[in-house]
Amino acid sequence: DTIGDNFDRTVAAFGDRDALVDHGRGLRWTYRELAAEVDALALGLLELGIGKGDRVGIWAPNCPEWTLTQYATAKIGAVLVNINPAYRSHELEYVLNQAGITLLIAAPKFKTSDYAGMIDEVRPRCQALAHVVLIGGEDWTSLLERGRGGDAGRLREIGLSPDDPINIQYTSGTTGFPKGATLSHHNILNNGFFVGELCGYTEADRICIPVPFYHCFGMVMGNLAATSHGACMVIPAPSFEPKATLEAVQAERCTSLYGVPTMFIAELAEPSFGSFDLSSLRTGIMAGSPCPVEVMKQVIERMGMSEVAICYGMTETSPVSTQTRADDSIERRVSTVGRVGPHLEIKVVDPETGLTVPRGTPGELCTRGYSVMLGYWEQPDKTAEAIDAARWMHTGDLAVMDDEGYVNITGRIKDMVIRGGENIYPREIEEFLYTHPDILDAQVVGVPDAKYGEELMVWVRMREGAEPLTAESLREFCTGKLAHYKIPRYVHVVDEFPMTVTGKIRKVEMREKSIDLLG
Ligand code: ATP
Ligand code: MG
Repeated sequence: DTIGDNFDRTVAAFGDRDALVDHGRGLRWTYRELAAEVDALALGLLELGIGKGDRVGIWAPNCPEWTLTQYATAKIGAVLVNINPAYRSHELEYVLNQAGITLLIAAPKFKTSDYAGMIDEVRPRCQALAHVVLIGGEDWTSLLERGRGGDAGRLREIGLSPDDPINIQYTSGTTGFPKGATLSHHNILNNGFFVGELCGYTEADRICIPVPFYHCFGMVMGNLAATSHGACMVIPAPSFEPKATLEAVQAERCTSLYGVPTMFIAELAEPSFGSFDLSSLRTGIMAGSPCPVEVMKQVIERMGMSEVAICYGMTETSPVSTQTRADDSIERRVSTVGRVGPHLEIKVVDPETGLTVPRGTPGELCTRGYSVMLGYWEQPDKTAEAIDAARWMHTGDLAVMDDEGYVNITGRIKDMVIRGGENIYPREIEEFLYTHPDILDAQVVGVPDAKYGEELMVWVRMREGAEPLTAESLREFCTGKLAHYKIPRYVHVVDEFPMTVTGKIRKVEMREKSIDLLG
C-alpha cells in the first residue's frame, strides 16, 4: 500500500468520525473534512509544479497543517523532509541544501523562533529552494484555494510505488550531527500500522500526541498509527507543556497518551496533576530513551494507563523494532523493551567480531526487515557503516536478550563507561537512583580520570523542596546496594538537563560540561 491509498480507505470507512483535534486552537476535523483539506493541498502542490520525488520541507511545531502536509506530499509522491523546529539558521541552511528542498512550508514564528526571518537570511545561499510558503499566510491560503474543487482523480494517476522514498527524517542528533534517514511508504506505513495494532487501536481511540511530529514518534507512531486504524489524533499544544497535555486528555477523553520519559516525569510532577480526570486513558507509549521502571509504575498506577507499552527503535528503522505487549507480565512491561515486532528480526552481536552472543550476554542490537530505511540521504558511506551486506541495521545500542526473547537496552555503545577495566552501564545506576525519594531525575556520565581511566559523575534534578544531593549523601544511599565501583564519585545538581527537542538528554554535551566542571 501507499500512504495515500491507505488513508483513502480509512476515509471511506470512517468519514464521519473525528480525525484530528487541535485542542489549543479549538479546531476539529472529521476524516472527511481532513481528506478534503489533504486533497486540496495535494492538488495545490501539483499546480505549483511540485511532483513525485521533489523534496518538500516542513518546519513547524505541531499543528494541523503539519499533518495536512504529511498526507498531501504522500499523495503526490513528494518526499517530505521533517525539519527540527529547534533548528536555527545554520542548521536550516544545511538541511535545505543537503536534501535539495524545492518547497519549504514553515510556520512564520513560534515563541522565540522567527522562522520567516531565518528563511530570509539563508535563502540566497539555497539554490534549489524555489518556493517558501508560510503557514496561515497568503501563499498558504491560495495554495489550498487553487487545489480546492480540483480533480482528485489526478492524484490516483501519479503512479506511486510503496517502495518509493517518501520521507527524510533527520535523527535526533543525540550523539552527533543528525543524519537524514530516507524512508519509503512501505517502511513507515507498516510500522505505524503495527504500532497501532499493538495498542489495539480502533476508530474509537483518541490519541494524545505531545511528542513532535517532526520526529518519527509523532508522525509514524502517532499520525500513521492513528490514520491506519481510523483513530483520532489529538494535538494538545504546539510544543510540549505538561499541563496542556493533561488538559487535552481530560477534555478530549483521550484513550492513549504518548511521551518520552521526561514528558511523563513532568506530567506526574505537575502540581495540579491530581485535579485532572484521566480515567479515559487505557494505553499509551513511552519510548525514545531508557524508560525508568519507577516512572512506568507510576504511569500505570497514577495515570491509569493499564496497557501502556514501551517501544524501542530508531529513526533508521521507521522507528519501532521491539515493543512490550499488554499481555506481558507487569514486571516485563516496566523493565524491558519487550520482544521483536511483527515481521522483523533482531539479534545481539559482539560489536568486535559481529558474531551473535549467547542469550543474557550484552552486545550490539541489530535489526532486519521491512522497517530498515533505504539509506541515509546522499551519504552512501554512512549508510554502508550502518547497514551491512545482509541488510542488518547496526543500532549502536547495547542490549541483552533473555531466553524468551525479551530485550533490555543497557545503553548506547558510546555511553558505556570503563572504570578501572570494569564495564559500567550508566542506565543501571540511573535506574537505582530513581528509587531515591528526593531525586526527580538522574543521569550518569563518564569523565576522564588519571587513576581509573574514567570516573562517574551523576547529574541530578531534585524534587521541589528537597535538600541538594551531595557526594557523601549519595555514597551513603548507594553503599551496600551498588558495587563500590558503580557509585558515582561526583555529583552535580541542576534544574534542567541539556535536551534535544525530542526530549532526549544530550549526554555528549553533559560529558563535555562535566569535564569543564572538574577543570
Ligand atoms: P543520533 O542518531 O542523531 O545520535 P538518536 O539516536 O537519539 O540521535 P533517534 O533515532 O531519535 O535519534 O533515537 C534512537 C535512539 O533512541 C536509539 O538508538 C536508542 O539509543 C534510543 N531509544 C529509543 N527508544 C528507547 C527505549 N525504549 N529505551 C532505551 N533507549 C531507547
Ligand atoms: Mg541514532
